[in-house]
Amino acid sequence: LLRVEGVSKRFGATTALDGLSLDVMPGEFVALLGGSGSGKSTLLRIVAGFETADEGRVLLQGRDIAPLPPHARPVSMVFQSYALFPHLSVFDNVAYGLRRDGVAKPEIARRVAEALALVGLTGFERRKPAQLSGGQRQRVALVRSLVKRPPLLLLDEPLGALDAGLRERTGFELRALQRATGAGFVMVTHDQEEALALADRVAVLEQGRLAQYDTPQALYNRPATRSVAAFLGAAN
Ligand code: ATP
Ligand code: MG
Repeated sequence: LLRVEGVSKRFGATTALDGLSLDVMPGEFVALLGGSGSGKSTLLRIVAGFETADEGRVLLQGRDIAPLPPHARPVSMVFQSYALFPHLSVFDNVAYGLRRDGVAKPEIARRVAEALALVGLTGFERRKPAQLSGGQRQRVALVRSLVKRPPLLLLDEPLGALDAGLRERTGFELRALQRATGAGFVMVTHDQEEALALADRVAVLEQGRLAQYDTPQALYNRPATRSVAAFLGAAN
């Protein structure tokens, strides 16, 4: 589904990504773990088209996506800050991308209703973001990305603002949603336990490089480096 090949990105003297390669299979749930500044957001932003790589290639469904602007890529991104439009209702927030893509009105109504039902937000259509709790806003942001039915969804700390209980519940909901849609998910998280509990594979980034990329089981049992072991150990 996604193939990142030798991608490097520098910001002045800072190397955010250093020849990073990573692949995601269709329907796979990948968690992206790594310390602050390890390059997680930069990687997602390059795949989504909000940054350009200095070196390397990004292939989506076998196609080099470098020439495509963000909205033309078969991928959606959920930002940590939700980035909902405050003046638009829940319905209009979710419908926004579909309208821009020229989807017909009845089809928009159907898909928005279906997507809101998936996350238990039926009946919230007319509310404004300010009238929702943080967790509900988070779900609207998710649904807004899911409603376009992208084969690949990128999530940058989507659960960051939630308290521990809600975070765990929403994490499992997210995983169920991912299974139901069959989309590939790449989710950035600071929470090692969450990554190990939810993901098919976990990618550990260190200074713009992939320190390890494997199943939670393998990562836990055979950390590739001392620092991966230390990083995972920090969860316990
Ligand atoms: P966090 O967990 O704190 O969100 P991250 O792994 O997402 O960290 P990135 O945002 O990818 O880290 O940043 C990687 C490195 O690149 C950091 O050193 C950061 O300061 C730098 N960086 C990122 N974006 C820019 C930018 N637009 N201009 C300059 N430096 C940047
Ligand atoms: Mg980040």
